[in-house]
Amino acid sequence: MTVIAPERLSLRADFPGVLDWHYLDSAATAQKPQAVIDAIARAYGPDYATVHRGVYARSANMTLAYESARRKVADFIGAKSDSEIVYVRGATEGINLVAQCWAGEQLKAGDRILLSTLEHHSNIVPWQMVAEKVGAHIDVIPLTDDGRIDLDAMRAMITPRHRMVALAHVSNVLGSVLDCRRAADIAHMVGARILIDGCQAVPRLAVDVQALDCDFYVFSAHKLYGPTGIGVLWARGELLDAMPPYQGGGSMIDKVTFEKTTYAPAPTRFEAGTPHISGVIGLSAAIDYVQVIGLDAIHAHECALVAKARAALENINSVRLFGPDDSAGILSFEVQGVHPHDVGTILDEAGVAIRAGHHCAQPLMRHLGVEATARASFGIYSDQGDVDALVRGLERVRKIFG
Ligand code: PMP
Repeated sequence: MTVIAPERLSLRADFPGVLDWHYLDSAATAQKPQAVIDAIARAYGPDYATVHRGVYARSANMTLAYESARRKVADFIGAKSDSEIVYVRGATEGINLVAQCWAGEQLKAGDRILLSTLEHHSNIVPWQMVAEKVGAHIDVIPLTDDGRIDLDAMRAMITPRHRMVALAHVSNVLGSVLDCRRAADIAHMVGARILIDGCQAVPRLAVDVQALDCDFYVFSAHKLYGPTGIGVLWARGELLDAMPPYQGGGSMIDKVTFEKTTYAPAPTRFEAGTPHISGVIGLSAAIDYVQVIGLDAIHAHECALVAKARAALENINSVRLFGPDDSAGILSFEVQGVHPHDVGTILDEAGVAIRAGHHCAQPLMRHLGVEATARASFGIYSDQGDVDALVRGLERVRKIFG
């Protein structure tokens, strides 16, 4: 397994946002390396101009940077073509786009959609909205005892009425990693399409959408050390080509008359209005940054930290851990008898930032039998000092609450 090269171990210094505290909330949003901050500052400063329309050199240069970023994203996730990459506001918008423009068109009354117990609300609510509109039904794949999506159960419950399957690649609560290829094979067995919510996977696993054989893949740049407000929807070219536009406006058209408008081909058809130019430039810089280190090395680094945190927390009486032993970069837990918000507040006083709450996964909380959990999540810049600070903080929680 690759590990981060010694000369890169000082990379914490690249992140102004982590210097003076123990940031263990990277699954909510990752801190930004200076290279990304600088790229965004340049995009809003000396390089600033609009894209696609300008006849002057600076706009042409910005268009080049904006479109080469699309190529970079395509290569980063193993897409066949950059025309399969749609810039969206984030994973949430990507899922809504597919729900409305694919499922909203293709699904009929009586069709079924398959989700899992551990999905983020972003991968539940858009499907409920479309199901209500077309009269489709939602079924839910249960979890294994250790918190993975149960693919044997999926295989047993899927039917030809299931037209869409939508699953998280990595759970934002349990850190469990889905065998996407197997899930895709099961979905395709009955002719269903499969969307993978890659929000928590893209920052910590090497992703190749063709090898995973999924049909749609979404992620948000801000969890990948890039800016907020920008994300990616990847879809197989033939699916995108057959989908109607998401929103109407400038940039997405071929020809406009009052009688009839024709639309640009994908992906332009899905990108109405002046886009988030600096967001795309920041995403491009973030991809450059993680690629220098390598996703395999990042994954190994985070797994090692989670293993250390798991071992240390298991030794603290009254701490209960959730999720499988090999969770990717994310560790949920509860301190029995103490509300996770109190755990979070005491840890904050000790300079440790964790997330406490339902993590936009209320059905999963119900399944776990809790209202909320505490969650520590790791990133490229996390280190042993963060784990030690977490353990010290939890010992303090135990002392305070007896
Ligand atoms: N899915 C998962 C698994 C997530 O962790 C998140 C973010 N917490 C989302 C979807 C939604 O991402 P965003 O809010 O960036 O659209």
